[in-house]
Amino acid sequence: MTNADPDDLATRVREGDLRLHTLEAHADHETAAAARRRLLAEETGADLTAVGAYGFDAAVAESNIENMVGAVQIPLGVAGPVSISGGAADGEYYLPLATTEGALLASVNRGLSVVDTAGGANARVTKTGMTRAPVFRVDGVVEALTAVEWVEANLESLREAAAETTSHGELLGVEPYVVGDSLYLRFAYDTKDAMGMNMVTIATERACELVEAETPAELVALSGNLCSDKKPAAINAVEGRGRSVTADVVIPGDLVEERLHTTPEAIAEANVRKNLIGSAKAGSLGFNAHAANVVAAAFLATGQDEAQVVEGANAITTMDARTRDDGSSDLYASVSLASLEVGTVGGGTTLPTQHEALEVLGLAGGGDPPGSNADALAEVIAVGALAGELSLLAALASRHLASAHADLGR
Ligand code: NAP
Repeated sequence: MTNADPDDLATRVREGDLRLHTLEAHADHETAAAARRRLLAEETGADLTAVGAYGFDAAVAESNIENMVGAVQIPLGVAGPVSISGGAADGEYYLPLATTEGALLASVNRGLSVVDTAGGANARVTKTGMTRAPVFRVDGVVEALTAVEWVEANLESLREAAAETTSHGELLGVEPYVVGDSLYLRFAYDTKDAMGMNMVTIATERACELVEAETPAELVALSGNLCSDKKPAAINAVEGRGRSVTADVVIPGDLVEERLHTTPEAIAEANVRKNLIGSAKAGSLGFNAHAANVVAAAFLATGQDEAQVVEGANAITTMDARTRDDGSSDLYASVSLASLEVGTVGGGTTLPTQHEALEVLGLAGGGDPPGSNADALAEVIAVGALAGELSLLAALASRHLASAHADLGR
């Protein structure tokens, strides 16, 4: 490819000789991005100097973005270290978090420090299954049941069809839902270290060909929204999606008083009245204080699909004062994230800064055995969310929330 001058390319786009999205066919990726910045700067008056000052090879981002003009930079910090005893995570972790919200890192750091002093957190992935739910047209309920019976009797054939498209993904099961003359098949896969949305979409398409060949059902859409991707949906909160993961810890009462300036009872009461009753009254899907803060910041830092924070923050927080024989009490704290979709391969995880953030966790790339890195990432994020819940509830219980934000966030 002969390289071109950004100004010439911008001029040719403006004159209609070239299209904005075809510039990489006429120049290398850096020049194409520079040409778009020139064009944008001229047409909008925006100064894109900072957007253009990115620190990676634009060609690396080819499968992550179209019409690239540069990069938005989000400050990256770390919280921790914290000791985690997980099903896959094991040891001390610094949690990389990218955010523009002042006070968030300080809050998570405070929570992690208390968790660590208490001996660290336990964490386990309790369920795995990335889902895709195509919708089929049938004549009515009789035809729907014919198709469902075939699917249930031929799961192995569907598994084999799906396996033709992926060497890592494994079809775990198919859950049917019938609504009038619409049939939904919710396919669930073990996607190992990949978040898996591309993987399961491709695998499900192959399986659907078999369903269409062997049953009266006709595919209408490969995603019928019962999946449910990037929309608030109770099905993810109940059935899970990606990884369902729980982190918990028992914190001695004197540690709560010394470091969080409140009591196990006050934190437990704040949790019940705010996260449980308040959320119920609000009709919320999330029964937590701000799990989305840690999920979003960890997703941005480690190259996850940021739109999946919608379901990634589907969390229930529990806090209990557990009374000892001597009358003192400890705080049991837990966070259960129902549908955390994470990967350590594929998607945005291959971008250099995101890859480095995964390296901070020791979780970049595929795990040994496959799936263990993504499990560990889910467990670390759950512990981060737990720390955030603890710190915020403690700030509320001790009435320090407003002053902390005034000091740190403004
Ligand atoms: P991907 O980058 O499309 O594929 C990852 C691939 O890595 C897997 O398919 C697998 O290949 C390979 N791989 C290598 N080592 C692996 C290991 N240890 N564990 C698992 N896989 C391993 O990523 P994806 O996770 O399937 O999809 C994520 C992307 O999908 C994100 O960019 C996201 O934004 C996007 N997305 C897509 C949709 C959609 O509907 N298509 C929806 C939402 C988001 P094999 O399969 O050959 O084994």
